[in-house]
Amino acid sequence: MLVLAAARMFDGEAMLPLRSPALQVADDGRIAGVVERSELAADQPVVDLGPVTLLPGLLDTHTHLCFDASASPVEALAEQSDDQLADWIDQRAGQALAAGITTLRDLGDRDFATLAAARRYRTEPAARPHLVCAGPPLTTATGHCHFLGGALPDPDAAPEAVRRWAERGVDLIKVMVTGGTMTPGSDGLDLQFDEPQLRELVRQAHRLGLQVTAHAHAASGIRAAVRAGVDGLEHAKFWVPAGLEPDWQVIDQIAERGIAVCPTLGALPGAPPPPPAVAARAEQALALVGQLAARGVVLVAGSDAGISPAKPHDVLPHAIVAMAGCGMGNLAALRSATSVAAEACRLPGKGRLRPGCDADLLAVDGDPVADLTALLRPRAVYRAGSLAWSAEPAVPDGALV
Ligand SMILES: [Zn+2]
Repeated sequence: MLVLAAARMFDGEAMLPLRSPALQVADDGRIAGVVERSELAADQPVVDLGPVTLLPGLLDTHTHLCFDASASPVEALAEQSDDQLADWIDQRAGQALAAGITTLRDLGDRDFATLAAARRYRTEPAARPHLVCAGPPLTTATGHCHFLGGALPDPDAAPEAVRRWAERGVDLIKVMVTGGTMTPGSDGLDLQFDEPQLRELVRQAHRLGLQVTAHAHAASGIRAAVRAGVDGLEHAKFWVPAGLEPDWQVIDQIAERGIAVCPTLGALPGAPPPPPAVAARAEQALALVGQLAARGVVLVAGSDAGISPAKPHDVLPHAIVAMAGCGMGNLAALRSATSVAAEACRLPGKGRLRPGCDADLLAVDGDPVADLTALLRPRAVYRAGSLAWSAEPAVPDGALV
């Protein structure tokens, strides 16, 4: 059995009230328990991680492993062969893992390249993050991200596409309810599917046991998606032509139904600004995240990694810092990237330091509950109980004596 000691442990909900915590990992890569170090047998070998906080590996609930985080990710992807893309997916997944992001929910696959990577990774989990895949987002013929392979000539055909996606083995369905900023000719204010079409899509997905998350910028799109019964909302910034206008009635429904909202914050400091439609609404969008939290909406951390130079595949810690800064506070922001994200994504084995959960772990320098920038200083990352990345070799107690 592997035993890890750290100065502090955050279990996905709160800092554990232990003086000198030790986490036990069973041979199957799952957590066996968390105890006081003094309770361990005297001859138990312990890997002492030092003055760090050990917490569950982070979940990025909105990422794009097919995009290269350049200024022109759509053009760059168009030039990639399937083989080249598979190599890039591996590199980007590795970059995320080294930052402590042990679970990635990919919401913008090209064809099913990321889903294929997820299958490959099952054979070597220690070196790879856990991938949750939506496949290509369902969209209209010339709609947002139509080039990824999920374009429907007829929006009424969405239930049939959901059936085919389920057959391919996707984990959930992503639907582009509104247009978006990175597709030429598309606009976040445009509605791509109406409420009845969305309702049929959701009904089919739920029948097949799949969650649906909806990309929606426009207030009208959010309203339609919520009424249609989606499980999650991406961006959800209530755009109207003149800016941004929260619909409190809809927001209360989002809170009551426990629909998870991913506000896709997070950017590298000093990176180029987002597109004008996003930049013009940025300040209001940040304020809205705090208002959603105050209203009781479930918020999950997700970065939209890959879509621009501001969003490399390891940018999630900046998203968590940004969410806290919107008024959520550090503790809630940390939960949004661990226990709350795992629950929203229906991953009961992730996001917590609990017996039976996967030993996907992140050690950071400092106390992230007191100062979230500790997340920007990873020291070690474990995946399924194996060391996946380390800033320095950990020294097992007594090993060098
Ligand atoms: Zn996205």
